[in-house]
Amino acid sequence: MRKLYSHFLRLPIKWKLAIWSTFLLTLLFFLYNSLQYIVINRWIYGQAESQIEQTINDIKDYYSDKGNRLNESDIRHSHGFLKDINEKGQIIWIVDEHSNPIVRVSNQMPLNVVKPEYSPIHKIKNVINDDDTHLLIVRAPLKSAYFTGTIEIVRNQAPTDELVDNILLILFAASLSAIILNGLGGYILSRQLLMPIQSITETMQRIHEEDLSKRFVFYDNGDELSRLGHIFNQMMNRLEASFHQQKQFVEDASHELRTPVAIIEGHLSLLARWGKKDPRVLEESLEASLEEIRRLASLVEELLHLNRTEDLSFKSEQTQNPAAVISGVCHDFHSLHPDFVFEQHLASLEDISLPVSAEHLKQILIILLDNAVKYSKDDKRVVVTGKVTDEGAHLLIQDFGLGIPAEDLPRIFDRFYRVNKDRSRERGGNGLGLSIAKRLIERAHGTIEITSEENEGTTITLTFPIEKPNAAAPEQPDNLLHP
Ligand code: ADP
Repeated sequence: MRKLYSHFLRLPIKWKLAIWSTFLLTLLFFLYNSLQYIVINRWIYGQAESQIEQTINDIKDYYSDKGNRLNESDIRHSHGFLKDINEKGQIIWIVDEHSNPIVRVSNQMPLNVVKPEYSPIHKIKNVINDDDTHLLIVRAPLKSAYFTGTIEIVRNQAPTDELVDNILLILFAASLSAIILNGLGGYILSRQLLMPIQSITETMQRIHEEDLSKRFVFYDNGDELSRLGHIFNQMMNRLEASFHQQKQFVEDASHELRTPVAIIEGHLSLLARWGKKDPRVLEESLEASLEEIRRLASLVEELLHLNRTEDLSFKSEQTQNPAAVISGVCHDFHSLHPDFVFEQHLASLEDISLPVSAEHLKQILIILLDNAVKYSKDDKRVVVTGKVTDEGAHLLIQDFGLGIPAEDLPRIFDRFYRVNKDRSRERGGNGLGLSIAKRLIERAHGTIEITSEENEGTTITLTFPIEKPNAAAPEQPDNLLHP
């Protein structure tokens, strides 16, 4: 039994479902049909008995005219009446107290099936004869001052038995076909239901063996399994993206780290050969190496930062009154770069909250304001404007500096991408700032757009989704930080 159960546990789910449902249905049918059979059986046989009892009562009623004076002759004369009321497959006997039949009538029943018998009490008996005939015998006493005997009715139960057998057969056949149909239906249904799971398993197998780009193909009818399919595909998209990001990151990082390391190595070997004796070479090489090491340090710092922004867990945080945070960062920048003017129009961002943490908002601003300062020209103005429209809350950072050539704009958010590497290098950039900012904004479900014209300036527009857009921003500057 245990072995059988452990075999059952190892079967595919579709088989388990089909077997379980068939088993339960069989049990249900068995109980229900047994009950039904018992009830029908009792009713049919009870019906036969009460018919006989009714006949006995009719006979007694017939004799009741004679009252206590009923005698053998009266009984003999009742032959016609008894014949009339007798039913098919039935014998009626009236016997005296010595079991001698006084009168007997039979309707399509041989009289020798049973021997008549006197009985002083009311008796009901079921008898199976030697030739397998099922007989129902009812004996009821009949008594007067001149006669003592019994009314005996013998009924052939074969038609009743046949009816009951037929009912049993019908019940059994109907149950069996229902069970077979249910088993088949259960198997087909569970196979149908489990097909998507089978397909997911195959897809996972292929992903495991071949490549990460394989996806689960399913019929999207919105049920639980197609939702599972959606989630599975989404999860795979994220995993694949994250995998490629990591790969790209390692490739980019090693590529970018190679240059400063090669420069430092060059200078150090120069020093090893001649520099120790030549104070000018020593001074220059040390200075250059130190510069590269500083760059390396900042690069490593930014790389770590970038990696942190790729953390897949998403914490939804809010910044209440973002105008205050933005204004604070502008103030800090003004302290660092007193020759710059930071013009602010932030009134419309005062009463709203942005779906980004204050810390991340500051980081984004630091990157953008730092670029605005780094790539400035003579006009040292930076305009920061907040606006709320139907699309969400916007923050515009406009400078009037070097600008970005149109051909570089599509790649500006790529990691390590720098417009004119020398210009960026001179100004201390690693080409990571904008990609960090973009990632932080996307985590908040926002967008970043850039418009720029070379030697005219650049405008960066950040858009954050917000729940209730407020009124449009006023035109007048709210705050002006200038030298
Ligand atoms: P970096 O650290 O080098 O500044 P970013 O990702 O922040 O890296 O910027 C990428 C490139 O885009 C920079 O090399 C720079 O040439 C250009 N850039 C970004 N912001 C500006 C700006 N406000 N004005 C002009 N050029 C910009």
